Amino acid sequence: MAKKDFYEILGVNRDASEDDIKKAYRKLAMKYHPDRNPDNPKAEESFKEAKEAYEILSDAQKRAAYDQFGHAGVDPQAGMGGGFGGFGGAGGFSDAFGGIFDEIFGGGGRSGRSNVYRGADLRYNLEITLEQAAFGTETKIRIPTMDVCESCKGTGAKAGTQPKTCPTCQGSGQVHIRQGFFSIQQTCPKCRGTGKFIADPCGACHGAGRIKQHKTLAVKIPAGVDEGDRIRLSGEGEHGINGGPPGDLYVQVHLKPHTVFQRDGNDLHCEMPISFSTAALGGEIEIPTLDGAAKLRIPEETQSGKTFRLRGKGIKGVRSSAHGDLLCHVVVETPVNLTERQKELLREFDETSRGERHNPRAKSWMDKVREFFAG
Ligand SMILES: [Zn+2]
Ligand SMILES: [Zn+2]
Repeated sequence: MAKKDFYEILGVNRDASEDDIKKAYRKLAMKYHPDRNPDNPKAEESFKEAKEAYEILSDAQKRAAYDQFGHAGVDPQAGMGGGFGGFGGAGGFSDAFGGIFDEIFGGGGRSGRSNVYRGADLRYNLEITLEQAAFGTETKIRIPTMDVCESCKGTGAKAGTQPKTCPTCQGSGQVHIRQGFFSIQQTCPKCRGTGKFIADPCGACHGAGRIKQHKTLAVKIPAGVDEGDRIRLSGEGEHGINGGPPGDLYVQVHLKPHTVFQRDGNDLHCEMPISFSTAALGGEIEIPTLDGAAKLRIPEETQSGKTFRLRGKGIKGVRSSAHGDLLCHVVVETPVNLTERQKELLREFDETSRGERHNPRAKSWMDKVREFFAG
């Protein structure tokens, strides 16, 4: 089957501008995208066609070759594509999308043709204890980083050689192509805008000039940080591309579960089991706080579920001016492992303590149950 003409596929004239081609492709890509046409082989075929046409026509060199030689000039299978090495075949969905799909679907913020990009921001998840979060801490983290390659000193060229000036653009990083009466400037496809061409790439970094290493950074965690808070380390993200500034590193705080306290904002909660005799008679118990043990007076007739609030014994948040509170939730514990003697005492106690005078809650509960059945 004869291959369709790329201009025909995109529905543009042979002298269409770069912009027109992009617009035409966008329209088709949106229409035939596999995400919008699941299980539709016809749409998939149209999508692949449009993609292939766009790949060729959006690239000044390939477009020129196509204009001159037709499919034979750009199709690797036709055996004449060799001179334009470096571009991929027409298969697969993922390869050539980056750029345009980011834009269509609202992704990346790349702009212009400069090819100078700020490095990506990185995130590091750091787990700390509640005490470290409350009082602040200093810790060291080890992160991967791209460092200047020692072998080539960052040039990307094999030791003893130097990158050469790109022959396609003569080092400017830009190429001019004629379209009709106009001359259009475009990023050089051979050197991707760097203006340099490496004939003999460095073996250690494969020509990238940078190599993956690890670095250790000291991170100061301010007192009061909470789950999800982020600490920004300016300039410690990924390196920029082609001389762009580096990104930032965000250290995201996660709190390890605590054995005693649960944190809720700047307040702390803890469960406080007390014996039922302490609950009935009252007494003083020792409770834990972040600053050490504290004494808490339990009044007589304290019921299970009562909460005692200790003002200022919580956490002072990063952005707040005062400490939160500590809330102790009373749980009256049923005694276990009773001896015969203890059981005897309890039976004796039970006989003397029946009735609403001693069990007001049971009384009001019984009243409600009676109302419920009567209703
Ligand atoms: Zn190297
Ligand atoms: Zn170049």
